[in-house]
Amino acid sequence: MGQVQFTRILYKISGEALMGEQSFGIDPTMVERVVADIIEARNMGVSIALAVGGGNLFRGVALASKGADRVTGDHMGMLAIIMNALALRMEFDKRGVPATVLSGLAVPQVCDQFTQRGLIAARDAGDVIIFAGGTGSPYFTSDTAAALRAAEFGADAVFKGTQVDGIYSADPRKDKNATRFDTLSHDDVLSKALGIMDMSAVTLARDNDIDLVVFSIHQPGELARVIAGEGTFTRVSRT
Ligand code: UDP
Repeated sequence: MGQVQFTRILYKISGEALMGEQSFGIDPTMVERVVADIIEARNMGVSIALAVGGGNLFRGVALASKGADRVTGDHMGMLAIIMNALALRMEFDKRGVPATVLSGLAVPQVCDQFTQRGLIAARDAGDVIIFAGGTGSPYFTSDTAAALRAAEFGADAVFKGTQVDGIYSADPRKDKNATRFDTLSHDDVLSKALGIMDMSAVTLARDNDIDLVVFSIHQPGELARVIAGEGTFTRVSRT
């Protein structure tokens, strides 16, 4: 394996990634796979934190589109994120790797609430930090929460595992002529509306000089390869 290219990363895991082949919920096999990949990356000496989504369980906007209250729907979405984070923490516990869930939404009986001091304490203790509950506020996405926590964590990059192996000019599953980019700038992603993350997440990453690295979640061990500058990925950096 090549030389490690990053010191500290924030790995954004969408709810969809935890769903595996299912159409809803959490696939324990997928949780095992994702956690094994993260432990492999951690063993390379990279400081790693996770930010989880909740779309496999609940999205506030889906409820709101049927006429329900958006804010309550988003609270439900953030609770879904916490459920995913707990599933990941259980798997780390099982493997004897210390992991701490820090939630933007306070659910004190279940996990610690996010604070910068809590983050630093967990980071210095060498725990894998699992950021949950999004930003704690409605109308945001877990991508934006990932960019925010990446800045607070002091990450060099947000890694995003997706269904395909990088950023394409169009969805390669729908358009045969779609081409893959090896490198892009944040402004390219914004101006071409490439839709890999929402615009607030990309802007926050750009303004804090945090790279975005997009790769496929379907290849076991790909996270470690990409950290070593191998594998297939698109890297978004400030020009
Ligand atoms: N959410 C929110 N504020 C946040 C992050 C998430 O209200 O800061 C809610 C929102 O309802 C969203 C849901 O949590 O639909 C799940 O997050 P997201 O859809 O971003 O998850 P992903 O697509 O990554 O699985």
